[in-house]
Amino acid sequence: MKVKTGLGQDSHRFVQDATRTLILGGVIFENAPPLQGNSDADVVLHALTNAISGVTGVNILGAVSDKLCLEQGVTDSREYVLEALKYLKNWKICHVSFSIEAKLPKMSPQIAAMKTRIADLLNLTMDDVGITATTGEGLTDFGRGEGIQVFCIVTAISEI
Ligand SMILES: [Zn+2]
Repeated sequence: MKVKTGLGQDSHRFVQDATRTLILGGVIFENAPPLQGNSDADVVLHALTNAISGVTGVNILGAVSDKLCLEQGVTDSREYVLEALKYLKNWKICHVSFSIEAKLPKMSPQIAAMKTRIADLLNLTMDDVGITATTGEGLTDFGRGEGIQVFCIVTAISEI
């Protein structure tokens, strides 16, 4: 058996825009400021997409997602994850782990829901999805409430 790990990161800035909704890991957060972006700005799923690309070697965020978003109107970030998954070939994701840095919103009430949505997206169980969140003692712009930063590690195995 062979093992690969992919590391992904992304960050988005909060924006004052009543037409937008904060979505993290496919979960809607009510009463929270939205993030800026051409897509739904789901920074959790963007970090996941990048981590999958770290395994496949095929980058999706950037040129490919811009084409999906700006030319085809695909703003649901789950579609970018699914696009990244197409290049796994014989590799199978067995675990994902997220580290979120943000002052707001409060993550803990929604972590179980995010794990469920992400597990469904990747055909994993909730036990295979780890999510931690920290304010980092306010030492960065994320910890001070300017936006959200997410790191993700994907572990994939191959029997070939
Ligand atoms: Zn992003």
